[in-house]
Amino acid sequence: MYDVLIVGAGLFGCTMADLLKKSGRKVLVIDKRSHIGGNCYTEEINGITVHKYGAHIVHTSDSRVWKYLNTFTEFNRFTHAPVAVYHGKPYNLPFNMNTFSRLYGVTTPSQAEECIQADIVPCAEPKNLEEKALSLVGRRIYEKLIKEYTEKQWGVDCRELPPEIITRLPLRMTYDNDYFNDEYEGIPKYGYTEIFQKMLYGCHVMLETPFTEELANQAKLIVYSGSIDEYFGYCYGALDYRSLRFETVEFLEKNVQGAAVVNYTDADLGFTRTIEHKHFDRHCEAETSILTYEYPASYDAFKDIPYYPINNERNNAIYAKYKALAESCKNVFFGGRLGSYRYLDMDDTIMDAFELFERIEAEWMKKEE
Ligand code: UDP
Repeated sequence: MYDVLIVGAGLFGCTMADLLKKSGRKVLVIDKRSHIGGNCYTEEINGITVHKYGAHIVHTSDSRVWKYLNTFTEFNRFTHAPVAVYHGKPYNLPFNMNTFSRLYGVTTPSQAEECIQADIVPCAEPKNLEEKALSLVGRRIYEKLIKEYTEKQWGVDCRELPPEIITRLPLRMTYDNDYFNDEYEGIPKYGYTEIFQKMLYGCHVMLETPFTEELANQAKLIVYSGSIDEYFGYCYGALDYRSLRFETVEFLEKNVQGAAVVNYTDADLGFTRTIEHKHFDRHCEAETSILTYEYPASYDAFKDIPYYPINNERNNAIYAKYKALAESCKNVFFGGRLGSYRYLDMDDTIMDAFELFERIEAEWMKKEE
């Protein structure tokens, strides 16, 4: 008999496993896949750390999260500075003075401000991504760097997407290409998988193992980080996700694109971005290079990996019903991106795990008293 069964060995599940194990609980972790780490999983190929499910960059302003992760590994001082290519021309991201000078031929923030203001389509209460983007950055940036990329990524018109998606991108009036505004940022020097191995040390781990009643009966409590709709047998219908397909290619050249991530903002290219993994580590000495092409894809609950929750009104209403059902389950706790049907950055995921761990321990302590 285990104290806790954790379903899913991704970032949420592994963090929960580590915290519960350290507080003396007997933990079983299961995962459908053949490896730990979920979408953060990395693999060493010819001297290059390859992010198998797309780029994962730790960035956070939460010192507790940063200190916690640093107990497992050392981080390099990687700064995410992607480039967007539109019609063959590179533009710096996030939108900053480098982008504005290239787009408008300006050199100072006040000149850039003037150009943006002339281009903006004001909207007091933007109801969709297009209205939000036009009111924030104006028509030229929207048309070159946002519209086609976003429609390719999500597979729907920007007018059907919630405005919040675009606010993930900073707008900066300085020549600073750091994609994130956070206090701490970096990539684990030896890849992510090592962190998960350490987190799971001392727990019983079963891979290629789907969740079953039989396993559930072997634990006093369940932490479920799989899809919440799947857990409840899709009784209110399946939640929509956007999926991804990755194509990884090895090149004999040392340096193919000169940046870790290049976004392709034209509609006619099927992929949204290419990752040249060696650039996550400026000390990588590999003679060849490995690139991953990221293709957005539609999602079928029975055969595809869910990546991005589509938080529109319909799905949020369905999720609310599952959430109410989840709250009525006494010994099952849901969390992580799939368990809470939210887009989560890595630090949000860890913070959610901290919070759930504290809740579980408090309840446990009450029972034990
Ligand atoms: N986005 C865009 N152009 C870009 C990069 C991002 O329009 O070159 C928009 C797009 O709508 C995307 C959102 O910004 O869904 C968030 O992008 P981000 O790169 O932060 O998403 P993630 O890396 O988490 O997929």
